[in-house]
Amino acid sequence: MQIPFRNSYARLPEHFYAATQPTPVAEPQLIAFNSALAEQLGIDARQASDEELAQWFAGNRLHEGAEPIAMAYCGHQFGQLNPQLGDGRALLLGEVVDDQGQRFDMQLKGSGRTPFSRGGDGRSPIGPVLREYLLCEAMHALGVPTTRALAAVASGETVVRERLEPGAVFTRVAASHIRVGTFQYFALRRDLDALKTLADHVTERHFPEILCSPAANSEQPYLALLRSICTAQAELIAHWMQLGFIHGVMNTDNMTVSGETIDYGPCAFMDTYRKEQVFSSIDRGGRYAFHNQPAIGQWNLARLAETLLPLISDDEQTAVALATECLEQYSQRHQQAWLTGMRRKLGLSTEHDGDSALVDDLLALLEQGEVDYTLFFRRLSWLCGEDENNDAYRQVAELFNHPELFNDWHVRWQQRQAQDALLPEQQQQQMLATNPAYIPRNHRVAEVIKAAEEDGDLRPFHKLLEIITQPFDEQPEHLAYQQPPAEGEKVLKTFCGT
Ligand code: AMP
Ligand code: MG
Ligand code: MG
Repeated sequence: MQIPFRNSYARLPEHFYAATQPTPVAEPQLIAFNSALAEQLGIDARQASDEELAQWFAGNRLHEGAEPIAMAYCGHQFGQLNPQLGDGRALLLGEVVDDQGQRFDMQLKGSGRTPFSRGGDGRSPIGPVLREYLLCEAMHALGVPTTRALAAVASGETVVRERLEPGAVFTRVAASHIRVGTFQYFALRRDLDALKTLADHVTERHFPEILCSPAANSEQPYLALLRSICTAQAELIAHWMQLGFIHGVMNTDNMTVSGETIDYGPCAFMDTYRKEQVFSSIDRGGRYAFHNQPAIGQWNLARLAETLLPLISDDEQTAVALATECLEQYSQRHQQAWLTGMRRKLGLSTEHDGDSALVDDLLALLEQGEVDYTLFFRRLSWLCGEDENNDAYRQVAELFNHPELFNDWHVRWQQRQAQDALLPEQQQQQMLATNPAYIPRNHRVAEVIKAAEEDGDLRPFHKLLEIITQPFDEQPEHLAYQQPPAEGEKVLKTFCGT
């Protein structure tokens, strides 16, 4: 197998990372390998056996050109600054450039201790590895910018958590692993040279258009960088909100500057719509509740903006005024992206004054009616172009605890649809391509993890992966996977499980 590494982060100053070798695992066994992603990355794995793949992606063998490093960063965890985090159980093996010229990081997670491990063992249990694999690949299939899963390998070792659990190593692919917390790390140490080096690296890597825009020649390339990151996050979080996704641990070290979703810990898709929904067992105050996510995004970006102030202007007041304007634009951009996406979910293509109220009123109704968020929009797609005298109507209305709750809103939606530019068939097509039939529902993910942990059975994992990576296909043989959990199957809490 050939991996054509072309590393750039390892060329940055030495205090950006700690060169660290992975600690081999006892008995690596391949769980999954994403050959489509490998191909996209120019990795020729066709000749490699599962045994070889397991050796490579457990970190037991290293490829020529790999330069394993643990990246330094810090971050605000639940609002509290932790000055020293860093990759405590992950190693960046190196970077590859895909067939489109786009650069990607390849990182092992669970590959052993690093100088940043603090008290941790540097390992991962199999549960969180399977969870991340499923969630990130589902997000990708749903069209959401995200880190990807390249491989998962069982380690043949046990890890000690609240109980003994089988261990695993995950290989994550990302546009980069540079976080808001990476900038904070250098700002906290008042290392302005490092900040500038990092900002230039990020600009070149993620926002090269800035370099050929007027901003590059003016005094404001770093303001342009801040604005680009704000835009990417505004759109990303809008996308989460449209899908009912709750990240669960939006600490500044878990927010990328590329605009990709990262760190799938206690994250979850909502079943029943509730704007204050929280799943994470450690989020006791509800800081990262569903409806708080856009504001938390802005809070995190404000922490990023603080780090960039000295680069934006020598005059602090000027820098603060410019950065504040960027953060205000984040809110507008988020609101705009969110409404555009919600219109798409409703089969609408034009903008009308009452759209925001139409969406807000619907969400209030879904909450009042205790309606399953994903199933509602999917069934609404099938109702598109039909009147209330048919089965599609009944199937939507019966999702409400009181079916008549749907009546008035349905009339409003029909009237609004009739004013739109798209034909009913086009509206329906748009809705079916926007509103997924399949998401990785909590109870299904829990089922998969249980089978793997208790019986070593990975068939449920592979089955669920296949279903949720075709989220917009009806898949009549898998209708049960569209269903919300039955009363006894509901998952009320999710855990970091790291
Ligand atoms: P997370 O909650 O995944 O964002 O992780 C927060 C920090 O804890 C990061 O610096 C991780 O590298 C570190 N960490 C998490 N789990 C472990 C572990 N098992 N061993 C060492 N460090 C860890
Ligand atoms: Mg993290
Ligand atoms: Mg994590």
